[in-house]
Parts: sequence; structure tokens; C-alpha cells
Amino acid sequence: MYLIFRCDCGRVLYGKEGVVTRKCPCGKSLKVKERRILKKVDTSEDASEAVREIQEEIYGEITFKKASELPKSKRGQITTKD
Ligand SMILES: [Zn+2]
Repeated sequence: MYLIFRCDCGRVLYGKEGVVTRKCPCGKSLKVKERRILKKVDTSEDASEAVREIQEEIYGEITFKKASELPKSKRGQITTKD
């Protein structure tokens, strides 16, 4: 069983049931038991699919970018549509 949950940064993550902490790419270590579980699935394939679906629900599309990909003029500002 895999648990789907969100980090405070907004990323959706999954962890195998029984795992105590999961590190988000943002650097935060999450205690799985303290997160609200969005969904439970049986396989890692289902888990990664669920993560993708939930992130698309939230953001419309996957919009995480590396800092180097962001236009320098917009750094630190609220993201607006181009
Ligand atoms: Zn995070």
C-alpha cells in the first residue's frame, strides 16, 4: 500500500505504507503520519499515476521549474501568466 500526501510547498508525494518520514524535493522532511492522506493505492505505479493526477488537478499542469529555467526578471515575484 502506498500513501499519497502533500508537502507544505505544494508538491504531491507518495510513500510506502509504514515509512515514517519522506523527504520532499524542496528539502523538507515530512512525517507521513502527520500528513493528511489524499489517497491510498496498491502499487508504486498507481502511486506515481495518482501523484500526477492530483498535481494536474491542483495546478492544471506540472509547472515546477528549476531556478535556472525561471526568467531572472521574475525571480521573487508572484508568478503571472506570460
Ligand atoms: Zn516540499
